[in-house]
Amino acid sequence: SADTTLPPLTLQLAAPRGFCAGVDRAIKIVEMALEKWGAPVYVRHEIVHNKFVVDGLRDKGAVFVEELDDCPPDRPVIFSAHGVPKAVPAEAAAREMVYVDATCPLVSKVHIEAERHAENGLQIIMIGHAGHPETIGTMGQLPAGEVLLVETPEDVGGLDVRDPERLAFVTQTTLSVDDTAEMVAALRARFPAIVGPHKEDICYATTNRQEAVKAIAPGIDALLVIGAPNSSNSRRLVEVGRRAGCAYAQLVQRAEDIDWRALAGISSVGITAGASAPEELVNEVIDAFRARYAVTVNLVETAQERVEFKVPRVLREPA
Ligand code: SF4
Repeated sequence: SADTTLPPLTLQLAAPRGFCAGVDRAIKIVEMALEKWGAPVYVRHEIVHNKFVVDGLRDKGAVFVEELDDCPPDRPVIFSAHGVPKAVPAEAAAREMVYVDATCPLVSKVHIEAERHAENGLQIIMIGHAGHPETIGTMGQLPAGEVLLVETPEDVGGLDVRDPERLAFVTQTTLSVDDTAEMVAALRARFPAIVGPHKEDICYATTNRQEAVKAIAPGIDALLVIGAPNSSNSRRLVEVGRRAGCAYAQLVQRAEDIDWRALAGISSVGITAGASAPEELVNEVIDAFRARYAVTVNLVETAQERVEFKVPRVLREPA
């Protein structure tokens, strides 16, 4: 058969990969809102950072906007999984809009943590990426200027705090576990009294996906991370792969992005997907390999996930 002429290739398929419970819930919220209220339903920011998901929901009648000002007052609006500054739901309420908050419960937990620290008189330092909607949302739980942002261990040295004895830190949920441990160590070294979560606020899904990449990275010639360029957790998976010993690690949105020339001569490829990347795209990539190689898929499972989040009550009630 023709297959015998194809070169052999092993695909090391990382597990867990792809959708997390927060993404799953956020997509469900948009779908259920469309069912309940009909189209159009407005969504402030990409519900999750994946073009394929966003395009699919747009086809069903979701309208994606960046600001509340871009929404008509008489249509429901949904806030994305990344979370929003306090001012956003406040403004929606003031305008008497119907809104549903799809902020992941694990991000909301960080919001509550930040508020609690502030109530206790602590100044908050956030470890995160400037400009990412989750960072904007978490910092926006407190008045502007209240939360200090650090992105690198070097930033810690430049921090100008009110009182080094009264500090707390919170983190973005999708950071590199190893980089964040370094940042926390730098914070604790400079401010021994700083309080924070037990480890950090990185979520189970981020941690598990990074662990799975570390398990496959040493034995593969190349790593493909299926995810969007603006997806923080997906970009971290590429970095984790490189650091764990895989020289060629690339982010691809889907099969058409694969650089086949760069993969010439390889015999094993690792595949994973960011928390906002649908399994359909993973299958598309595997199929693209099957068209060019005699593929053996080897599942490498480093954890099992059973986390599930309920959608808000308003969507569980009849219209
Ligand atoms: Fe929630 Fe983590 Fe998924 Fe973000 S990556 S939506 S924090 S479960």
